[in-house]
Amino acid sequence: MDRFLKAMRSLRFRLMLVNACVVLLASMATLLTLRAGMQFALLHELDQILSEDLSEVELALAAGDDARSSELREQLERKARGHIQHRWFVQLLPVAGISGGEASGPDAAGTLLLASVQADGNRWQSVNTPAFLRDHPGPLHSPTTLEGYRIHTRTIGKGQGVLTQLRIGASLDLIRRDLALIDRITGVVMVLGLIIAPLGGYALAGVATRPLEQIIRTADRLRPEQLDERLPLRGRGDELDQLSLAFNRLLDRIASFLERNGDFLANAAHELRTPLAALRSTAEVALRSERSVTEYQDLLGTIIEEGETLELLVNQLLLLAESEASVDSVVTHGELTDLGAVIEQACDMFAGVAESRSIELTCQTLPQVFVRGNRQHLRQVMNNLIDNAVKFTASGGRVDVRLDLGPIPRTARLVVSDTGVGIPPADQPRLFERFFRGERSHRRDLPTRGTGLGLSICEAVVKAHGGTIEVASEPGTGSCFTVTLPLGVP
Ligand code: ADP
Repeated sequence: MDRFLKAMRSLRFRLMLVNACVVLLASMATLLTLRAGMQFALLHELDQILSEDLSEVELALAAGDDARSSELREQLERKARGHIQHRWFVQLLPVAGISGGEASGPDAAGTLLLASVQADGNRWQSVNTPAFLRDHPGPLHSPTTLEGYRIHTRTIGKGQGVLTQLRIGASLDLIRRDLALIDRITGVVMVLGLIIAPLGGYALAGVATRPLEQIIRTADRLRPEQLDERLPLRGRGDELDQLSLAFNRLLDRIASFLERNGDFLANAAHELRTPLAALRSTAEVALRSERSVTEYQDLLGTIIEEGETLELLVNQLLLLAESEASVDSVVTHGELTDLGAVIEQACDMFAGVAESRSIELTCQTLPQVFVRGNRQHLRQVMNNLIDNAVKFTASGGRVDVRLDLGPIPRTARLVVSDTGVGIPPADQPRLFERFFRGERSHRRDLPTRGTGLGLSICEAVVKAHGGTIEVASEPGTGSCFTVTLPLGVP
């Protein structure tokens, strides 16, 4: 029962159902249209024959044949017998109240001037009987369908004072028989369709859904630690191939994301291990033997320094995680931040360091340039960029910070340029990678040693704010970092 319910919920079953309904409805509509067309064509053909017969008899009458002449009567009798299967008949009757002689007056409506006579068949008899005429004494619309007969009528003798109505008709039985045959064929075709459409639909849906089953099986086999399997492409370029392609691309992205995260974790652990090891060994040295107060003070100073390095690293890791998690939400829900004020604060903070290293730091901002986002994070971007610029610029150099509206509409542009050491072209593409440090920055003995997280934090924050960050640099000449941020709507 469960398997049956599961099969009924399957895509294959639904495709089959839709396919069967469409095929059945389409064939039903076709057959019904055909039937209506056939009915119209048969009736039209009969109408044409009757109309020709009408003209023929009218001509014979106009040629002077008396309606009661035995020759005409015989001729019509012959024709009636010849068309017995159609129950063909002809009647000539005076139009009540107008024609003269014995047929005048309403009571005379039943008096036929001429009627073809057929011996067989009750219905035929009834058409020829005065009773039929009594029921329909007046002029009939032509052509008309009456009691299973198709009847054409023409009023003749106009202008001679005597009006006579000529009626020629035939039974619709043959047409009905033909239509009944079509109905039977329709019925058989529908029954066959009812059997074949679902079976064919089920087989077709099976062909269409087989690749999906393969996708499901492959997806089931995938594990986060083993993502090297990819879906095979059938090379048809259809939607299923596109689905497989999209699925494979998703797997590529997940695999590279997991790899990056794995590397990040390993790097983070490695970076944390160095100050931790330094902390521990300094403490061990302090405990190994009795020392003077100055020696203890020195060792404790080292411990505090390593503690600060650890704190900085942990804070930067937290900041990175926070800004990566806040993509989109920070722009929509962030506070309106005056970018000029944030930049001026950052410049003020570095003015002392720059001065002590004889670096000229200039700061050019614009008032009322607002962006929506996290003020603390934006401040961190400024700090990192100015810190790097000052760090990597020798005494006598300059660092320029500028805020303007830039060439892109509705964006603010922040440029931090320096006349420092510059960045080798080979390093430039890797600059925003986590823990990436240039040659100079690796050296523990130099004051410029950093964590390698500063620019990746800048990139994560700027991206979270819907902006971009770019670098242009030439070794020996200097570097220029450009941040573009969308202006905030108050
Ligand atoms: P760090 O904390 O080491 O400064 P960053 O992510 O901020 O980490 O920078 C990564 C590397 O990019 C640095 O180690 C340095 O080699 C290079 N770099 C960044 N800014 C500059 C600059 N203004 N001039 C020269 N090199 C720079």
